[in-house]
Amino acid sequence: MSNTSQPGQPAQSQPPSFDDIPIAERESPITPPVKSRSTSPRLWFGALFAIALLAAGGWFAYQWWLSRGIASPTPMAASPQPTEVPPKDDRVLNHFTYPEAPQHELEAVSADGGIKMRAPAARAFKDMVAAAGAAGVVLNPLSGFRSIKEQEQVYFEVKAERAQTLEQRALVSAPPGHSEHHTGYAIDIGDGNVPAVNLSPDFDKTAAYKWLSENAMRFNFELSFPKGNKQGVTYEPWHWRFVGDKQSLDTFYRAKEFKQENPSSPNP
Ligand SMILES: [Zn+2]
Repeated sequence: MSNTSQPGQPAQSQPPSFDDIPIAERESPITPPVKSRSTSPRLWFGALFAIALLAAGGWFAYQWWLSRGIASPTPMAASPQPTEVPPKDDRVLNHFTYPEAPQHELEAVSADGGIKMRAPAARAFKDMVAAAGAAGVVLNPLSGFRSIKEQEQVYFEVKAERAQTLEQRALVSAPPGHSEHHTGYAIDIGDGNVPAVNLSPDFDKTAAYKWLSENAMRFNFELSFPKGNKQGVTYEPWHWRFVGDKQSLDTFYRAKEFKQENPSSPNP
């Protein structure tokens, strides 16, 4: 009886076992894609490793370059330093650079309107002329504002006319862009009673000069280039500048500073 039951048993066990095999066979073709999934992390790892190698190589190369780079600037930096000549200031042939006065800020100081100064300077000058007149002294304006362009003409034409060198010319007239005249604060003054000494050192023998040296400061005017001025510009007793407001003081500040810093400079 057990025999009858035996053939039934294998019959029962066979079908499921046979069914399992095909399933396993079916799964086996599925495994290759699974394998391919496992190879891509390997590729990633390999790529990362290669990148790490490159990075490490680059870092070492950079460190080597740095060590070379740090060492090399020292001899290189030493050579440009001595060739650098730091300019003491922006003077050209002893004259400072000044900004030009805007046209609309200019005001006439002469009867014909031909001579102008910056408004605050012009008013102070006219007050000064009136005060001098009351004392019997005639202050005659000779030259006020001159544009840089006009100054250029004066400078180079006179230099050619008189066959002067640039250095000789610079002693009596500022190079273009360096004249106090284009600031609108400077004025050349003559004695109306002694026009023969206009723009001459002998102007300092006139009543006008005497009056100016005693009273000009009351009107905030000062002599720009007194005898032995430390700027090294030739004595100009006729050339006065206004220093009565912040802007004019700022304009001439460096010239003043230079005088104070170099009290023992040799005279020209
Ligand atoms: Zn002048």
